[in-house]
Amino acid sequence: MAGTTHPDVPEGISVRRWGAENGDGLVIDVDSGVSASVHGIGVEPPDDASRANGPTWAYIVKDDGVTLMDPGHLGSFDFLTDGLKVLGMVPSDIDRIVVTHGHWDHDGGVAELADASGAEFWAHELWRAYSPYSYGQLLRADSSPLRVEMTRIGERMRDAGPRTYGGVGKKPAGTNRQPGGGSRDKYDEVRSALKVDHALEDGFKQGSMEYLHTPGHWPDELTIRLGNLIFTGDHILPEITPHPSMAYSHPADLAKTLPERYRKSDEVWGLMAYLKSLHRVCQLGKGLTVMPAHRLFNRNEFRMTDERRGAETIAFHLERCDLLVDAVESGHTDLEPATRELFSYRPLTDSYHLMSAASEAISHVELMEETGDMVVHDVEGGDGVRLELTGSRNYRDVIGDLLSD
Ligand SMILES: [Zn+2]
Repeated sequence: MAGTTHPDVPEGISVRRWGAENGDGLVIDVDSGVSASVHGIGVEPPDDASRANGPTWAYIVKDDGVTLMDPGHLGSFDFLTDGLKVLGMVPSDIDRIVVTHGHWDHDGGVAELADASGAEFWAHELWRAYSPYSYGQLLRADSSPLRVEMTRIGERMRDAGPRTYGGVGKKPAGTNRQPGGGSRDKYDEVRSALKVDHALEDGFKQGSMEYLHTPGHWPDELTIRLGNLIFTGDHILPEITPHPSMAYSHPADLAKTLPERYRKSDEVWGLMAYLKSLHRVCQLGKGLTVMPAHRLFNRNEFRMTDERRGAETIAFHLERCDLLVDAVESGHTDLEPATRELFSYRPLTDSYHLMSAASEAISHVELMEETGDMVVHDVEGGDGVRLELTGSRNYRDVIGDLLSD
């Protein structure tokens, strides 16, 4: 960071140690509005992980014992303990580790921290159910024409030249900067060996903290409320809109073991589930400060936001559905051209980014299939899909309802 000028510190935050201009290494105290003390550490990703979202924010709550949320990536342990030291803490001070959801940049660091601290590991009960499955296995559980086409366009681009690896399919030689950092195989191995000490359900309360199940970005996503703070994981983020999941089908053997309430997979996967969860958080109250897992601090500024960011995110997806309609109307009826229209502001130059964008486009197509506004045809001979508009715009009312109060 050039010079030593520090930005304004918002009300309710005090800085223990400044870090990099994306928040790496920053350590803060947060006023919760209740007696619990709250601290945050911008935990830097390891060298071989993507830095696109900056650090993972680990939050420490001293309330009924000491809780640490989201220790970050596998390989981030030294950055985390360095931050703890600034707070006068060591790993053994932590009683429980909670993850907001089962993504590598949140739960990758659990095993190392649990070993060093002896802390319990808490996660939503779906985290436990999904943990034996890799992303690839979950992806392959669905063979809808859209999913087949997404895999095809990813492979086509990967075969066309040197690319970064996105964790799906074959890893090309000589690429090591993966989204998850380190070896994805290692991550899958460490994660599947973890034992959950307490599987959380929606509405669980402990001390002043309340755990809410807010699926959609990922099915096991938790939003944790404490006083006037909401810890949103990747559910609500400043600056960027979290990636909505697609409407997966559960692998058959998994579906059998899931508690009844999760067997209808569209309640925990997909854009509609995500928008409903956003709406739910918007209804929690007014003036709730968002403590996100990414982008709390970026470009040398605190990026404070509140529950209204949830409504902004809903509105963003409504607009994105409108854009998809425009794209299809103007003749972009196959998945890749429609995706490129939707993301025309971003060069989708490697298979990982193209497939992420395509999966986001798919989540919108699926929502519009559900609302009766779009039909997907499988083009014969394995030559892509054809998106067709039915002429209605029911999605505008369905999503609009989530914005109306
Ligand atoms: Zn995530």
